Amino acid sequence: MDFNDSPEEAAYREKARAWLAENAAAHRARFGDLKPNTPEHMVAAKDWQATKAAAGYACITWPAAIGGGGGTPIQSVIFGQEEAKAGLGYGYFTIGLGMCVPTVMAFADSETKQRFVSPAVKGEEIWCQLFSEPAGGSDVAALRTRAVRDGDEWVINGQKVWTTGAHYCDYGILLTRTDPDAPKHKGLTMFWIDMKDPAVECRPIHQMSGGREFNEVYFTDLRVKDSQRLGEVGDGWKVALVTLMNERLAVGGSAGPNYREIMKLARQLSGPTGPALKDQAFREKLADWYVQSEGLKFTRFRTMTALSRGQTPGPESSIGKIISANQLQDLANTAVEMEDQYGILVDPDQAPAEAAFQQSLMWAPGLRIAGGTDEILKNIIAERVLGLPGEVRVDKDVPFKDMPTGR
Ligand SMILES: Cc1cc2nc3c(=O)[nH]c(=O)nc-3n(C[C@H](O)[C@H](O)[C@H](O)COP(=O)(O)OP(=O)(O)OC[C@H]3O[C@@H](n4cnc5c(N)ncnc54)[C@H](O)[C@@H]3O)c2cc1C
Repeated sequence: MDFNDSPEEAAYREKARAWLAENAAAHRARFGDLKPNTPEHMVAAKDWQATKAAAGYACITWPAAIGGGGGTPIQSVIFGQEEAKAGLGYGYFTIGLGMCVPTVMAFADSETKQRFVSPAVKGEEIWCQLFSEPAGGSDVAALRTRAVRDGDEWVINGQKVWTTGAHYCDYGILLTRTDPDAPKHKGLTMFWIDMKDPAVECRPIHQMSGGREFNEVYFTDLRVKDSQRLGEVGDGWKVALVTLMNERLAVGGSAGPNYREIMKLARQLSGPTGPALKDQAFREKLADWYVQSEGLKFTRFRTMTALSRGQTPGPESSIGKIISANQLQDLANTAVEMEDQYGILVDPDQAPAEAAFQQSLMWAPGLRIAGGTDEILKNIIAERVLGLPGEVRVDKDVPFKDMPTGR
């Protein structure tokens, strides 16, 4: 393991820093601090994405010929680190560019790729991922949305849920069941769809934070052309695995206050027995968070070393999300309790630490579910990292139509 940048990496970091110093300042001067999930925020996000694309800093690892930066995975990590330090980076494009468009690139015909990849890189069009359903989340292969062939078209009926950004997205990748006689993983087919088609209805899901990031999405006789199919008929699971492998890398770390911020807060607050920072139980927790954070830092260095050597990070990247999402939730619970009656305030102008802990209290449970729940990631670590026996999968070879439904 080597924690230092190589001379080439250090030079790239310097170049990225200089570019960010100039362009992030110009971007902020133009747009200021905007409230997330507003139309103005989206305009600013698209502008920043276009600026990055023009300079080769959007989709750094993709070939320049399709609008990417023509760079390496380690350069992409370095730029991401510097962009985060500069306080910029919008979330609207993560799912599309991290998961959906790579799937389109792997399975679509050249005309489709020509049409969609470059506008997505420039932030002109945004994509969403339509996989989860009420009957298929962790076990997404149990999904029920039906696609039935009709000549050169397919007719789609069904429902998805938890679709991030469906309400502002232009296109989506949609996993459907095309053969109920086949076992659940074998009767699936993937399509790309136009989210603005009148046969697609988005219904918002309101979150406890007051936000509205997810949707239920309904399809009523949605007609798509066979040319919108990604991969072969019945090969949807293979296509979905490409998306899901990218998802584990895209939904990695946690955005939120860390042990340093809670330590700062504990210096300012007093409990019944004196300053919160002197409280023995709090100090023990603080020590645990510190140890976890150091462990995570070195695990990430290991991933970076693999990337730097041109290798692909393994399933151990699942460790990062479990630890950071759980820590975020634990930190938030402790901080909000420590804030006592102020803990219920979510207004950043009134709450201690600008309500950062209240926000992460409401966000952390979602992070523990998105991109694979804690339990699913533990299964992956058990089976693929530790080599323990696999989970019993009794319905693997049963035709989907014969699977018990509880009805
Ligand atoms: C923030 C966020 C964003 C999301 N965005 C999207 C999106 O854009 N597109 C999309 O398609 N989906 C999205 N999802 C949905 C997400 O993929 C699912 O919520 C997730 O896969 C879990 O599925 P589920 O909610 O149906 O829970 P279930 O699968 O029903 O799980 C319920 C509980 O059972 C446990 N469990 C299930 N199977 C096992 C097992 N084999 N072993 C042990 N325990 C098990 C789970 O860990 C969980 O605790 C998002 C979710 C969140 C929270």
